[in-house]
Amino acid sequence: MDNFFTEGDRVWLREEDQFLPGSVSSCSGGVVVFATDYGQVYTYKQNALTRQKVQPMHHSSVRGVEDMATLEDLHDGAIMHNLYQRYQQRQIYTYIGSILAAVNPYQPLPGLYDRPTIELYSRHHLGEISPHIFAVANDCYRSLWRRQQNQCVLISGESGAGKTESTKLILRFLSAMSQHSLEVSCRDKTSHVEEALLESSPIMEAFGNAKTVYNNNSSRFGKFVQLHFNQKGNIQGGRIVDCILSNSNRVVRQNPGERNYHIFYAILAGANNQQRAEAFGLTRPESYHYLRQSSCTEDKTINDSSTFQDVLVPSAMQTMQFTEENIREVLRLLAGILHAGNIEFMTAGGAQVASKSALSWTSELLGLNSEQLAEVLTHRSMILRGEEISTPLTVEQAVDSRDSMAMALYSQCFNWIIHKLNHRIRGKEDFKSISILDIFGFENFEVNRFEQFNINYANEKLQEYFNKHIFSLEQLEYNKEGLVWVDINWMDNAECLDLIEKVSNKLGLLALMNEESHFPKATDDTLLEKLHSQHSKNPFYVKPRVAVHLFGVRHYAGEVVYDVRGMLEKNRDTFRDDILNMLRESRSVGWMCFQTGGIFMRLDFVYDLFEHVLSRNKQDTLKSSTKHRRPTVSSQFKISTTYLQDSLHSLMATLSTSNPYFIRCIKPNTHKMPDQFDQTVVLNQLRYSGMLETVKIRRSGFPVRRSFQDFCSRLNLASCVLQIQLHGAIQSPCRRLRVFMSIHVVQDGLQVFLRESLEQRLEKQRKQYRR
Ligand code: ATP
Ligand code: MG
Repeated sequence: MDNFFTEGDRVWLREEDQFLPGSVSSCSGGVVVFATDYGQVYTYKQNALTRQKVQPMHHSSVRGVEDMATLEDLHDGAIMHNLYQRYQQRQIYTYIGSILAAVNPYQPLPGLYDRPTIELYSRHHLGEISPHIFAVANDCYRSLWRRQQNQCVLISGESGAGKTESTKLILRFLSAMSQHSLEVSCRDKTSHVEEALLESSPIMEAFGNAKTVYNNNSSRFGKFVQLHFNQKGNIQGGRIVDCILSNSNRVVRQNPGERNYHIFYAILAGANNQQRAEAFGLTRPESYHYLRQSSCTEDKTINDSSTFQDVLVPSAMQTMQFTEENIREVLRLLAGILHAGNIEFMTAGGAQVASKSALSWTSELLGLNSEQLAEVLTHRSMILRGEEISTPLTVEQAVDSRDSMAMALYSQCFNWIIHKLNHRIRGKEDFKSISILDIFGFENFEVNRFEQFNINYANEKLQEYFNKHIFSLEQLEYNKEGLVWVDINWMDNAECLDLIEKVSNKLGLLALMNEESHFPKATDDTLLEKLHSQHSKNPFYVKPRVAVHLFGVRHYAGEVVYDVRGMLEKNRDTFRDDILNMLRESRSVGWMCFQTGGIFMRLDFVYDLFEHVLSRNKQDTLKSSTKHRRPTVSSQFKISTTYLQDSLHSLMATLSTSNPYFIRCIKPNTHKMPDQFDQTVVLNQLRYSGMLETVKIRRSGFPVRRSFQDFCSRLNLASCVLQIQLHGAIQSPCRRLRVFMSIHVVQDGLQVFLRESLEQRLEKQRKQYRR
């Protein structure tokens, strides 16, 4: 035992349920000192050490590997260490077979995404050169022909992990491929689709992203971008399906340290004085209730005036075919929302508008009659037995009506923009598509509300899809085909999803929320009571001991406690008919046209948003596979859980017919800082995302399937070279295949199972042989 360790040995040290990478720094007098790579020092008496406590490090871990399916040390510590080593060398991408792990560098890495790099990756198969998101995008692109199937890329990771940046990189690569495959003569003509696709990102981000404590550019909506390719490999068109703007609540309220949607600050920073002051009556962000509540109107990493330049100057919007009038209309609407937030109320036998100037700016900008606006904000009118009854509102209720009007205006404007973008990028769909899914990442704030519940539910669905695809269906298939296989245990989130979604037996959380939403007398408290009484025994449900308004869910990514207050109202997602009617009537004022700074403008934009956009929205939504409910105003505003559930189900149905690629984004720290790798933060993400199990299944599994016929005809050219390899590499695990490989009988329905590494080798050889 005395000579068991020598100085400099690389080892794994098992401490507190973790494997820590380290080296033996000294070993004498029966005492061994270990220094871990993460900076800790452990001193042991040599005789107290067991083989379990210290294990030699395999050389694959010592050097680090590009594909973690080739790691020999199989524990979380080895995976983390591999990512850490690579991260320190600015290698942020690592494979697990064809799955890509991407660690957010939180800094631009020179040369990593430039034109020559795109060219380089377009010429190599996945695995041939160092891991890269472009290699995944390239494989996905080639798969359109190889598999003759639609492809999708699913990008997951918590808020701030890098999903949206990854989405843009894939779009960039695919656009370049599309351009590349065009004949030089038609490049100019068709390049507009690619350009428009790339231009759509800054527009969507300006309207749909905001600074949160997790991410300075956090997506508050989920998007599914479909690119339609023709046989030659050009993008002919695309479609953006906005899953939902998770909650337009942010327009009227933000948590401390967070901001409203970027676009509001962009207008104030970028519009010229004439536009800002004279036409829209705007000043500084601090002057607006909707921007100043969180005491955070700027951030040094966000350049609001360049957002304005990127998005709202005519040249940028022209690519997307927004007219100058469209831009003015949007600016007026956003300015109108900011002024609306400054409408205050006082009590005088019911609420009365106290700020006349804000009222008159709002009505002017939105094309509303200011008396009607004041009336609808301070009174609620209903038709009862054919008679209109008007009830005065309290100040609190008046504030609510003002806020709900602002939220409705914003969410309709967002939908209108998505519709315009879709109109611009649509094109023929005569071959195959590649879709990219970029949703809002998992969130756990100090206070979590309806918005977080929806976001985390969507992430739970995405994790379910990953699990199903990577573990469950995969192992089922091995068993069905008679492969010799020892099942790998993985963390199933089905029970947690049952708690949220289930409709039979016991109503799940969503169904209970929806049920309560239909009772006019129900309150958040009655909802909470029902949730507790139905589910307090469920292991995935948490009933906090003391807190009165809270319930918790044990999500796959950790326990989140939700505040029930406001949930019912949000889920009802109803918009008062009288406010809706007033906005629809905005046209009657609008048609009169009036002059602003020498420009004549039509003011039927708001009318247009509320009259036509509702019906157009449905075209931009994936066809629901679940039973259709009659569209209500609420489902049209796309906030309720019913809408979310339907849109997630249809999304999953669409995904199930495509061949998926997975990208796992990892956040190295919670401070949004470069060069900081916080092991606790990373380990947590590796654990809940099932990274170790993924490595295990990709290491010993056979995720590549080919029909026997396709396999043979594809590799026929190199069959003499392949014979030897196939026998060695594939024969043993698959009993049935062995028979058919040896006698070379081609039968329909037979499948060839391959390791990804072998598939990569074969494809490479095929290419070489053809040269
Ligand atoms: P959310 O769920 O909140 O929308 P997200 O996963 O989409 O989060 P991103 O917005 O893509 O996160 O990334 C957050 C920030 O991290 C970016 O604004 C950027 O500063 C940085 N970042 C992400 N990926 C990269 C990258 N590949 N290179 C450089 N910086 C990056
Ligand atoms: Mg994002």
